[in-house]
Amino acid sequence: MGFPPHTLEQYAHRFYGFKGEAQYLHGHTGVLTIEVEDTVEPGVNMVFPCNEIQKTAWSVLKNFDHALILREDDPLLPAVLKVYEEQGIRDGAPQNKMKGPAFQTELATAYPDCRLVVTKETMTVEGMIKIVYELLKDKLNIAKLTFTSGVNAASAEFTTQNRIERCPLCGIALNENGVCPKCGYKKG
Ligand SMILES: [Zn+2]
Ligand SMILES: [Zn+2]
Repeated sequence: MGFPPHTLEQYAHRFYGFKGEAQYLHGHTGVLTIEVEDTVEPGVNMVFPCNEIQKTAWSVLKNFDHALILREDDPLLPAVLKVYEEQGIRDGAPQNKMKGPAFQTELATAYPDCRLVVTKETMTVEGMIKIVYELLKDKLNIAKLTFTSGVNAASAEFTTQNRIERCPLCGIALNENGVCPKCGYKKG
């Protein structure tokens, strides 16, 4: 396998209920490295094109970039939303363009219009890996995720269960209709 692709997320968060300085809002640059496992398509000759892994991952992860990540029970959440509401930016602003599709999983809900991600658990590096795996497991055959943020790092290995069907020409995952979103190839 080649150099595993990674993405950068710059985000703000805090550890609500924590005693140390991390109970105050602060920011990080996080680096997520994704390793996928799959058979090599004969026509493509690589496991999964790296830039396609990155694009697939980024479509979801851009919701974490320049975002505020708060736990669902953090009292800052209603306070921040109130200010956004009063300012008229809760449901979006013309300059807020780099948005991914809103998502909701067991562990996290993204509100791209106001660049907010609400999590069930405290967003530690370990927590981020769980959230990301949940979001991407049906799109990529993830073998390993590593997330580093400041001095913290965590990684987790996964047994890939889903056989994700891929385009024999591009190597990227086919959509639910068996069509390649990139070249239009349709499974016969
Ligand atoms: Zn932090
Ligand atoms: Zn294709």
